[in-house]
Amino acid sequence: VTAAARTFLPLPDDEPLKIAWPTPNRFLFVAPEKFFATTRRNPDYGRPGWTRDCGKRFHGGCDIAPIFVERDGKTARVVFTDCETGRDFESEEPTFVPKDDVFCVFDGEILQINDDENASDYGKFVKISHVWPKSREKFVTLYAHLSEIFEFFPRKGARVGRMGQTSRSRDSRNWMRIAPHLHFEVQTMAGKRYDPEQFLRRFLPR
Ligand SMILES: [Zn+2]
Repeated sequence: VTAAARTFLPLPDDEPLKIAWPTPNRFLFVAPEKFFATTRRNPDYGRPGWTRDCGKRFHGGCDIAPIFVERDGKTARVVFTDCETGRDFESEEPTFVPKDDVFCVFDGEILQINDDENASDYGKFVKISHVWPKSREKFVTLYAHLSEIFEFFPRKGARVGRMGQTSRSRDSRNWMRIAPHLHFEVQTMAGKRYDPEQFLRRFLPR
């Protein structure tokens, strides 16, 4: 399978699922530009799909921006690409630290907890399995780049952890310093992905 073939699975359209917000950020329906993490140069950064490296790299999750974010007074040097010319250029950007809690979107069971930030490009992450109310098939939600994972029961609205900037990848950590976020994914048990933005838009209460 080539990278260009990557796409999302269609969501089931007849499931009466009602989920909780995964973070305190409630801007999805009213101001999506405040819901997804962005950089000063890339407003599509946090959206799912072909949003990375001028459409060269597929983003399988959505990056939800923090509400409780603090400037740490530092800067980081990042390399942007000018998508018109394909030319790379360096920029010194202000860095931020997220403080938001992260919440389980639906009742389920803990499938995996990774508390070792150097073991995965997702950093510290939690995977929870859930059951679609109608089909009784399972699906999985993933909460990645956490700074801290709490002890919790995997129930709708439970506090799973604290938003962070963890990843095994130095490059990812650098980008998260200028655009901190929760990387949120929705998968089948086999690891195929649904579009997480569509999932949230369809199943969050309005
Ligand atoms: Zn992401």
